Amino acid sequence: MVLWTAGATCAAQGSGASGAPVLERTETPLERYQRESPALVNRPEADYLALAAFCREHRLVQQEATVLKRLLRANPEQAEARERLGFVRDGKKWIEAAELWRRETRERERAGEACYGEGWIPKAEAEARLKEDASALGWAPRLRLDTKEVRIFSAAEYPTARALAEAAAAMVPAYRAMDGAACPLKVPRSVRVCLFEDRKTWAAVYRKLIGEELPDYGGSCYHDLTDTVYICMDSLPALKTSDAGLAEVMVHEMVHALDEQALKGLALRPKWVEEGRAEYLGHGTWLRGIVPGAVMLEKTDGRGQALGDAILKVSLAELLDTDRETFYGEKMKFYYPLSWALVHFLLHGEDGRHAEAFRAFVCDTERGWSRDVFEARVAKLAEIEPGFKTYVRELFLPLVRASQGLERK
Ligand SMILES: [Zn+2]
Repeated sequence: MVLWTAGATCAAQGSGASGAPVLERTETPLERYQRESPALVNRPEADYLALAAFCREHRLVQQEATVLKRLLRANPEQAEARERLGFVRDGKKWIEAAELWRRETRERERAGEACYGEGWIPKAEAEARLKEDASALGWAPRLRLDTKEVRIFSAAEYPTARALAEAAAAMVPAYRAMDGAACPLKVPRSVRVCLFEDRKTWAAVYRKLIGEELPDYGGSCYHDLTDTVYICMDSLPALKTSDAGLAEVMVHEMVHALDEQALKGLALRPKWVEEGRAEYLGHGTWLRGIVPGAVMLEKTDGRGQALGDAILKVSLAELLDTDRETFYGEKMKFYYPLSWALVHFLLHGEDGRHAEAFRAFVCDTERGWSRDVFEARVAKLAEIEPGFKTYVRELFLPLVRASQGLERK
C-alpha cells in the first residue's frame, strides 16, 4: 500500500490491536505557522527569520511578509527583513525601492531625459519614438519599459510601471517552469502590455482594434488576435491603489497571451485549464517577482469565500465538463476559484504526484483536453476528488477564515 499525505504520518509498527497501520495526523505548514507565530513575541530575531524562511519554503507568501513586518516593528534596522520586503539602503535610511525610482525619475527628468524603450534617453529622442509607437498603438503612452520578453507601454507612474516590468520579467521563466522542461510547445515570443489610465482612451483603442464598442465588463482585456495585453486601471479601482493587485491582473492576462502564442491559436483548451493556470501564476505574484504555487488570499478577496462554497456545490466532473459559454455563466464565481485550486492541487498536492501527468496533459495538443482524456492521462476524478477537497479545506479555507478574522478586528 502506498499512502500519499500532506499532513499525516503513517505509523506502521506498534499499531492497534487489529494489526492495521495507524494513521496519525500531523501539522500542515499553515498550522505550524499559526502555532509558532503568536509565540514569537520577545523571541530572538533569528526565530522570526527562521519562521519567515519556513513560510517561504512552503509558499505562504502573505504569512512570510507578516512575520517580516512584525520583526521590523521590533527592530526597524533589521537588514535581512528590510531587503526581503523590498527596501533598499539610502545612506543611513531605508527606503522603499519605489521611492528610489521616484527620486531617479525626478533627477533624470531634470537632466532632460525620459524613460522610453530600454532606458533613459534624451527627451527629444523619446518623443520621436513615442510618436512612432503612438501611431502603431492608436494611443500615446507616457513611458515604455522593456524587458527581454515584455514591453510595457504605460500611462501609469514610473514606479508602478517599473514594478510591473520587474514582475513581467519574472513571469516568463515562471510560466515556462509551470509546464516543465519537457513541454513540446514552442517557447513564446514577446508580449506587449498596454496600461491605460482612463476608460475613455481604452474604449477608443478598443473600438479601433476590435471594431466594437467596449462591453461593460471590459475592464481588463486580452485581445487574442494580437500579442498584446490591455489593462485599464480605471475600470478596476482597486488596481489603482495597489501595485500588487495590478501585477496580479497583468500576470493573469500574460498567461493567456503566452498560452495563445504557444498554441498558435490552433487549439482551444478548456476554460478551467486556461483560467486555472492564469489564476495560479497571478495569485503567485509577489509584486517584484513570482512565487509559483504561492497561496495568497487578500483580505477583501471574495474568491476565497467563493471557493469554500464551490467545493460544496460543484463537482470536479461538472467543472471539467464546462464549455466556454457555461464557464462564464451564472456559476462563473465558483468556476474561477475552483479552477485555480485544481491547478494548484495538481501541481503541488499529495506531494506533487500528479504534477508530471498534469503537465503532459496540458502540453498535449494532439489528444485534446476532454474529461475522458484527463481521466486517462492524469487520474480518475472519483479517485482524486476526496484528496482535492481535503487539500482545499486544509490549505485554502483556513487562510480565508484567518483573513476574515483579521478584517473584523
Ligand atoms: Zn482570465
